[in-house]
Amino acid sequence: LKSELSGSVDGHGSNGASAERVVVLVIGGGGREHALCYALQRSPTCDAVFCAPGNAGISASGNATCIPDLDITSSSAVISFCRKWSVGLVVVGPEAPLVSGLANDLVMAGIPTFGPSAEAAALEGSKNFMKTICDKYGIPTAKYQTFSDASAAKQYIKEQGAPIVIKADGLAAGKGVTVAMTLEEAYEAVDSMLVEGVFGSAGCRIVVEEFLEGEEASFFALVDGENAIPLESAQDHKRVGDGDTGPNTGGMGAYSPAPVLTKQLQSVVMDSIILPTVKGMAMEGCKFVGVLYAGLMIEKKSGLPKLIEYNVRFGDPECQVLMVRLESDLAKVLLAACRGELKGVTLDWSPGSAMVVVMANKGYPGSYEKGTVIRNLEEAEHVAPSVKIFHAGTALDSDGNFVATGGRVLGITSKGKDLEEARDKAYLAVEEINWPGGFYRKDIGWRALPQKQFASNA
Ligand code: AMP
Repeated sequence: LKSELSGSVDGHGSNGASAERVVVLVIGGGGREHALCYALQRSPTCDAVFCAPGNAGISASGNATCIPDLDITSSSAVISFCRKWSVGLVVVGPEAPLVSGLANDLVMAGIPTFGPSAEAAALEGSKNFMKTICDKYGIPTAKYQTFSDASAAKQYIKEQGAPIVIKADGLAAGKGVTVAMTLEEAYEAVDSMLVEGVFGSAGCRIVVEEFLEGEEASFFALVDGENAIPLESAQDHKRVGDGDTGPNTGGMGAYSPAPVLTKQLQSVVMDSIILPTVKGMAMEGCKFVGVLYAGLMIEKKSGLPKLIEYNVRFGDPECQVLMVRLESDLAKVLLAACRGELKGVTLDWSPGSAMVVVMANKGYPGSYEKGTVIRNLEEAEHVAPSVKIFHAGTALDSDGNFVATGGRVLGITSKGKDLEEARDKAYLAVEEINWPGGFYRKDIGWRALPQKQFASNA
């Protein structure tokens, strides 16, 4: 399968004629889904791409036909749509529909679906489940205990000392983790989750775990239930402010490859974390199909990776840089994953680097104004070759202008022969965009680029 078709970018290349062709439905409507649509549309074996609900930018780019009215929380509505339009592959972007079992229902209905079952999605949906799998299958992770009683949790914290990490067991919109530097902070986090119930049922059980020191890295693999193949490395920037300051966000930018994940480290991650997880999940009777996205800490003292968390879908914005670098036929590879046929598959990537700079609404990750007008997007996309703007939270107003509707709004992406060139092109495009209501980090890639190179952007 090694992309003999790669290079044919119009999706209808003559050399794709004899291959099986497929209509794809992407579920979701953020920057990640826009990037997936973009890569699927370029896939020589892909006949058409739908995206539900999608967003105004995905429609305007022509990367997919958006179906804003399809109720993606209703499996039967999605199944009817797939039957009506002969959809042969569904790609589920966000975690929520996976955790609530959309993939189970689609697979039951005979529709190949890239994304795990609800049982397998518990790797992300329950920290306790993830930790149990780690224990059982010898996967390196922080030492931990699980509690639903606040005083027992505090007793354990007192014994362990600070710094220490408190995590809500369930999904808490990325806010369920407190890295407590003092015992008081840790007790407060315990009370807010177990006594005050700030995360509702997601926080009625907590995991208290050892604080790991080192550099964080993300690792992605495509999994078919039995086999896993690594994707290229990518690194995101979670904090809202330059120099990694301020509150955590969904991600303010990313680049690929990430030098922190050397080839040697990548093979350690595959052998000690990803493959044991895939085998373990199969042994547990809940085979994992989809993207396994491991949040890792490369421990300072050993130089070895430990698993911090699993996500069961592509990272956003890491997906944007991976999709612009992917040269293989994405539709074909994802279909192979759904069929358990990933063994021996390798992926082709463009050489050099890619970067995405996220533009967010002023105020994000707190409250922000909606409806501010964004201009010059077309000019920005043409400011340099290989610039691509992915839309995460935009709509069109009655005058046909793009307006900001979400927290993270745009992902300005570029490739370059190296990271510096990718960075320069991405920021050139960012600066071309006229959006007084938005902001962006000016130092994406700082860990991988010498500091002085940021002087011009400061
Ligand atoms: P998570 O949602 O589990 O990825 O946690 C969010 C962030 O909290 C991570 O990206 C880390 O920066 C931090 N974190 C989580 N667990 C630990 C840990 N055991 N030690 C140190 N930092 C952690």
